[in-house]
Amino acid sequence: MQNWMALFEEIHGCTRCPLCEARIHAVPGEGNPFAELMLIGEGPGAEEDRQGRPFVGASGELLTKYLHAIGIERTEVYIANIVKCRPPGNRTPTPAEAEACLPYLRRQFVLIRPKIIMLLGGTAAKFTLGGDIRIRRDHGNWIERKGTLFMVTFHPSALLRDGSQKKLAWQDFTTVRDKLKELRGA
Ligand code: SF4
Repeated sequence: MQNWMALFEEIHGCTRCPLCEARIHAVPGEGNPFAELMLIGEGPGAEEDRQGRPFVGASGELLTKYLHAIGIERTEVYIANIVKCRPPGNRTPTPAEAEACLPYLRRQFVLIRPKIIMLLGGTAAKFTLGGDIRIRRDHGNWIERKGTLFMVTFHPSALLRDGSQKKLAWQDFTTVRDKLKELRGA
């Protein structure tokens, strides 16, 4: 647990990029430190910035519902973002901001060692996997990197804006559920 405490302390005091200037709270992430499933979003929004917790607004509620529907509670997974501080006006983090912050996410990954990582939205996909990833085209497919399975899917806030994609996201979540069962040998 010492590693986690040191990491959180570092993030809360971090000034590596300009996003520290307007934050109320840094949002390191939360959840099960032994999670089999990790979910990664883009960055904190206004409510996350206020509370210091990831995915607590309307998009967080939707994410929690999807998890619940596949039989997984939020406390069982680990949820984090590419950047730990809110980009002003919820804009997309710049490559420089993401690069500055990604070492924290890598340390979280090393501590958790999840079996599956779901990347929520294009920004999470781009900064985690690189290359030409398009959510509409590539969602639901498995990408294996060094023994970890990645899946890109829609960001919950995109689903709130365009409900027509909810069915596709649901298919992705059920695919994750089935893969977790398979990996557990159930
Ligand atoms: S976004 Fe990341 S790198 Fe930038 S100040 Fe916050 S914790 Fe530090």
